[in-house]
Amino acid sequence: MATFADLNLSEPIIRSIVNMGFEETTPIQEQTIPAAMEGKDLIGQAQTGTGKTAAYGIPLIERITEPAGQIQGIVLAPTRELAVQVAEELNKIGQFKRINALPIYGGQGIDWQIRALKKRPHIIVATPGRLMDHMRRKTIRLNEIKIVVLDEADEMLNMGFLDDIETILKEIPEERQTLLFSATMPRQIQNIAQRFMKEPKLISIKATGVTVSDIEQHYVEVTERLKFDVLSRILDIQSPDLSIVFARTKRRVDELSEALSKRGYSAEGIHGDLTQSKRDSVLRQFKDGTIEVLVATDVAARGLDITGVTHVFNFDIPQDPESYVHRVGRTGRAGKSGLAITLVTPREIGMLRMIESVIKRRIIRKPIPTIIEAVQGQQRLTMTEILRVITEEDIEKYKGVAEELLAEHDSVTLLSAALKIITKEPDNVEVRLTESAPPRGRSMGGGRNMGSARPQGNYHRDGYGQKTDTWSRRKGNDFRGGSAGPQRGRDNKRNG
Ligand code: ADP
Ligand code: MG
Repeated sequence: MATFADLNLSEPIIRSIVNMGFEETTPIQEQTIPAAMEGKDLIGQAQTGTGKTAAYGIPLIERITEPAGQIQGIVLAPTRELAVQVAEELNKIGQFKRINALPIYGGQGIDWQIRALKKRPHIIVATPGRLMDHMRRKTIRLNEIKIVVLDEADEMLNMGFLDDIETILKEIPEERQTLLFSATMPRQIQNIAQRFMKEPKLISIKATGVTVSDIEQHYVEVTERLKFDVLSRILDIQSPDLSIVFARTKRRVDELSEALSKRGYSAEGIHGDLTQSKRDSVLRQFKDGTIEVLVATDVAARGLDITGVTHVFNFDIPQDPESYVHRVGRTGRAGKSGLAITLVTPREIGMLRMIESVIKRRIIRKPIPTIIEAVQGQQRLTMTEILRVITEEDIEKYKGVAEELLAEHDSVTLLSAALKIITKEPDNVEVRLTESAPPRGRSMGGGRNMGSARPQGNYHRDGYGQKTDTWSRRKGNDFRGGSAGPQRGRDNKRNG
């Protein structure tokens, strides 16, 4: 793999890349950066989490001339979160060259944006709808644009932005450079490319062997009614540092995050109906670890780059294999390992097979975890925490009381009582979720023969002839400053 030094980048850009901690290029970066720097139009296809932002961001910023005046580059992105995130990364890449990128998205006050635009950013990162608003108001002019990037093009099409994108592209001078990045290449994208790009060079990085393959993938077959208990138990057993739970609809997201909170997990939901400030605050809390479980719809979580996610739960099986790859790609980023667990109802098994055939990998079947396993999981967590406190914290001032208690009771009884107080016991608070119809996904139409979608190989019914083993907590999944499990258990106890 190449280093960034091999790519003829200017000194300020090299400095910012070093500053960002990037050492080697990712495959998509290695191939797209040189071609894009020559000014060629190109289409870059690579899986989520492979560094596509820098793949276009670096050449974009290299090609922009410093004196601010008119906007010289535009990146179109499907969601506000993504626009913000991309602008942040571009500002990092451009920090020493002093190139400014401004996110422009719906939901934020347009007057505020107009004021920000007066500071003359070199680049704007916009959602299509809001950019159209500004074009109509003539608060953004596109006549000096040298480079356009369509990021997450497949998702923009899924969200119905095709017309907007066409309108926008028609407004931008033809002698521009057009870059298009996407995780998948549906036919509509080739259409756009044909009509709006000049002999684009296609650079496609094979999905196999990239992120998703480093992620352990399990599934549990479970009825709709039991799903929530299964999720709770797995959370108790595994005590993830940070996890994302995907649900099918906005309503399910609300219900699930509420139900999780009721059972003592620190959970919040995120979806498109929430206000921008609510979404921002949820994301911020998730990033700094205040929230442990983020419940999300596909769209809300799309493209978000959150590091440190240890677990992805597909509470509802995704609509199609592509969403599966996207969801699972939220964990195990930047070379770290992750675990993805999909809950599958008996009638959805065909979809699971379809996903396996697309990702060319088996998803390992796990049994429904038992309550006993959940209890043991929490007890182990408490034990780890106690051992940590012994070595790391000052406990002198508790010793007097400890001795007093020991004069009356034996140590095993005392310690057991103390353990009971600080351990979160599996909680069976009743929760009710609205049933949701299983997906009738675009790539898995009902008429298709699911049986033939199985990957090659000789399977047995119960999990591919492989013994389905028991649940255990994953290694290397440590406490974050003791703020996780037992703390939660204690709060929970106090509250009732
Ligand atoms: P994609 O758009 O393909 O889903 P992102 O651009 O969001 O991926 O990048 C995923 C993560 O990888 C980000 O945290 C990004 O900063 C990081 N990253 C990108 N390129 C590199 C690199 N060459 N070395 C290390 N980390 C990188
Ligand atoms: Mg991206």
